[in-house]
Amino acid sequence: PIALSVTHLSKRYGETRALNGVSLMLEQGEMVALIGASGSGKSTLIRHIAGLEIGDGESGRVEILGAVSQAGGRMNREAARGRVAVIFQQFNLVGRLSVLTNVLIGHLGRIPRWRGTLGLFNAREKDKARAALARVGIPQVAAQRASTLSGGQQQRAAIARTLVQEARILIADEPISALDPSAARRVMDVLADISREDGITVLVSLHQVEYARRYCRRTIAMRDGAIVYDGPSTALSNDF
Ligand code: ADP
Ligand code: ADP
Repeated sequence: PIALSVTHLSKRYGETRALNGVSLMLEQGEMVALIGASGSGKSTLIRHIAGLEIGDGESGRVEILGAVSQAGGRMNREAARGRVAVIFQQFNLVGRLSVLTNVLIGHLGRIPRWRGTLGLFNAREKDKARAALARVGIPQVAAQRASTLSGGQQQRAAIARTLVQEARILIADEPISALDPSAARRVMDVLADISREDGITVLVSLHQVEYARRYCRRTIAMRDGAIVYDGPSTALSNDF
């Protein structure tokens, strides 16, 4: 089944064409790399998929698990928000809160109001959050402040929050760009695991072609707001 489709999506910022007729389709459970030089439009595409922005084309549309948003019209933000999780290069966690609370915030994907403290989440929710932390390999840091985690641990905690949210699509915008190689590998391993085991569709934008080749069967490459390659990562040239 198709998890996500983007059709003829275009976006201008003044004179800049950030997206120029982008179309793509992701199968449920696929893990796909998104690569391209800085300024090629990756983040703009990701913001549209996440429902944080609306395209400006006549025909552009984003369809997520059956929920359609017509570019230029009203985005179905609520539909996208519960089902799509986004992880950025950094600042995914609230540093002064515990790691467990940060993961519990995933529940707010369905209960859209901040409930303040850890004490307001019930035991079942806490168990689920702890299980998610174990799943990403960092059960021991649950009680620590998020600000004390290493960069790689922070990304894995953000992935744990995605599991608690029960997102079906995870968009990761350069999640490993700030990490050393061994931390980067662990984060990529977790992404591969949740796509394979949970059927979560993962779109991950990456700086290095090497990681795309190693972790993703398929890579989408962008240049100047357009998709210039969409196919097997093994056939990708080093120019990207
Ligand atoms: P990437 O993520 O691949 O680096 P972006 O999507 O951030 O690319 O940017 C694509 C183009 O759109 C760039 O030329 C960038 O300067 C421009 N752009 C992105 N966001 C904005 C914005 N909010 N306002 C103006 N221009 C923007
Ligand atoms: P070590 O495992 O000894 O700490 P590294 O982490 O630097 O050494 O590299 C180990 C493995 O990670 C190697 O197989 C190498 O190909 C891979 N690797 C390192 N850096 C990158 C990179 N930037 N992109 C892709 N693979 C990398």
